[in-house]
Amino acid sequence: MNKEEFKNKVEELGIIITDEMLTKLNKYYELLITWNKKFNLTRITEEKEVYLKHFYDSLSIKRAINLYNYNNLVDVGTGAGFPGIVLAIIFKNLKIDLIEANTKKCLFLAEVKKNLSLGNVQIINGRAESYAKIAREKYEIATCRAVSHLNIISEIIIPMIKVSGYFLPLKGEIDKEIKEGLNILTKLNAKLVEVKTFKLPIENSNRSILIIKKINTTNIIYPREYNKIIKDLKNRQK
Ligand code: SAM
Repeated sequence: MNKEEFKNKVEELGIIITDEMLTKLNKYYELLITWNKKFNLTRITEEKEVYLKHFYDSLSIKRAINLYNYNNLVDVGTGAGFPGIVLAIIFKNLKIDLIEANTKKCLFLAEVKKNLSLGNVQIINGRAESYAKIAREKYEIATCRAVSHLNIISEIIIPMIKVSGYFLPLKGEIDKEIKEGLNILTKLNAKLVEVKTFKLPIENSNRSILIIKKINTTNIIYPREYNKIIKDLKNRQK
């Protein structure tokens, strides 16, 4: 996807994209490529591929929700900043917290924040399940891309969401994960409202965005210890 195709396709999603935002995305791409030589941040490095599979894919969350109407968002397991950094560049109305366990990735994120003057970004270097204990019901929107099984990540993320807020995981093919995840959603007082499916332009690969709404407060017992969550999932898969 070249930059012109990117701009057109993003505008089709109802996103306003200015020259300043495009310049910031350009800088982000350059930093990503430079740092990728030292740290393993992404295997996608060709410019057109990054614009499609990282930048456009991150913004596709707008298909599920109008992000202009919200104030804060958390991106769990953001890695090199997908989707969180891209959302912070485009949606200046959002205060965005990025949670990432890997310290080297957090150093990269700090460099991006500084270079791009992203005053709306906060980087949290740690495990989301620990952070969830001190950030209960803090966020209107939570998202994650390519982090872990729906069952595990729901238990970690949903306690951090405000009642009536949304959890929007970005996924590829997810039928099996949905079936396995429905049980824990009920326990967490959350509900799967809709699954938006679409194809990534140009390469036509399948994408899904789950729209999970938090209906009521989550019992304080969640999230449980990570080992316990994993053990439960394995038992259920037997
Ligand atoms: N979201 C990015 C993307 O789509 O390119 C990164 C995906 S990468 C496969 C998963 C990232 O999640 C890794 O950087 C890993 O360190 C982080 N991660 C996994 N589990 C986590 C947890 N419980 N708390 C914080 N970060 C976590």
